Amino acid sequence: MTSIRLDTLTKKFGAFSAIRTMDLEVHDGEFMALLGPSGCGKSTTMNIIAGMERPTSGRVLFGDRDISNVPMTRRGVGFVFQNYAIFTHMTVRQNLAYGLKARGTAGAETDRRVGAIADFLQLTPFLDQPSAKLSVNILQRIAIGRSAIVEPSIFLLDEPLSNVDAAFRAVMRTELKHLQRQFRQTMVYVTHDQLEAMTMADRIAVMDHGVLQQVGTPLEVYNNPVNIFVARFIGSPGMNLLPATLVELGGRLHADLGKAGLSRALTAPLAAAARGQKSRDVWFGFRPEELSVAADTAGLTLAVTFIERIGSRTIAHFDAGGVAVKGVFENDVALQAGSTAHVVAQEQSVRLFDRATGQAIVGD
Ligand code: ATP
Repeated sequence: MTSIRLDTLTKKFGAFSAIRTMDLEVHDGEFMALLGPSGCGKSTTMNIIAGMERPTSGRVLFGDRDISNVPMTRRGVGFVFQNYAIFTHMTVRQNLAYGLKARGTAGAETDRRVGAIADFLQLTPFLDQPSAKLSVNILQRIAIGRSAIVEPSIFLLDEPLSNVDAAFRAVMRTELKHLQRQFRQTMVYVTHDQLEAMTMADRIAVMDHGVLQQVGTPLEVYNNPVNIFVARFIGSPGMNLLPATLVELGGRLHADLGKAGLSRALTAPLAAAARGQKSRDVWFGFRPEELSVAADTAGLTLAVTFIERIGSRTIAHFDAGGVAVKGVFENDVALQAGSTAHVVAQEQSVRLFDRATGQAIVGD
């Protein structure tokens, strides 16, 4: 097992900064997801770890060893790309055995390991078939198996499931997690899909525009996003953010949401943190899952614009003075498009962000 450390890493393509001063540690045996929208620098980071790309400045360390100048072929990492790179003229068995043969592994040991990985990835029925005729789903399994079979201590996967169908993606999420648990590899997994990151990773590194925004466990980034980018990006739907002004009423701090009304009093720790801020202008944030319909006319007043049934739950879309708000409810929720609803954001779930900087205002 090996840890990975990125030390003040930067990458420029000409004048364009693809990565701006990034420090990140991936622990031994940890599953780290690099998460962010298209173009945020995930693949560039991954390529630098793999040795396919050189950083403009900064270092890459595996354990205590600075490998910044070690060529890709000598870094000993397994790498699986979005576009499976497998040999279509070979059978599945030959593809799986390829890395072991190249290392001179004995025939019996190769057979044993091919059998084991094929079993694990449910490839056994296809072992002697030519790869060319197989489906995308199977090809991506072969690509994962081919890298995993040499048991690299560092395993890098760049959007490996983006080309496969939704049902198979759900299966593979579980299988990849099992694979990593079994071999205890240090795994870095690039994805733009927050659900993939949330369900698989031990920790998530959220990136935007070449800047690392937050590193934390799935629940940390979900519950306590450090800024409005992370708040919106994590969660499905993301966090609601309403422009608000903080006001004192009867010794308690509330958020004035304009036409939508006044929030309940903020919790004492959040109010204390907010009172320490220079500006009263904030983003009032709450998760769609934390919204409930008020029993009376108390709470926020929102116009219901659309009711979306997603099977297990119902998503209600609201308008709050021109700002879209979403709430996730049980299917029997009594809300109708075109009506006005009174809803409450639970006090404990409220998050505040400085309107000027977008940074979280955090209570103790
Ligand atoms: P995606 O999911 O779309 O691949 P990403 O987060 O992985 O996005 P990168 O591929 O790392 O993003 O690209 C980051 C930025 O750097 C993008 O704006 C991209 O256009 C730019 N970029 C990447 N490689 C090069 C290159 N070789 N030359 C110039 N610009 C590049």
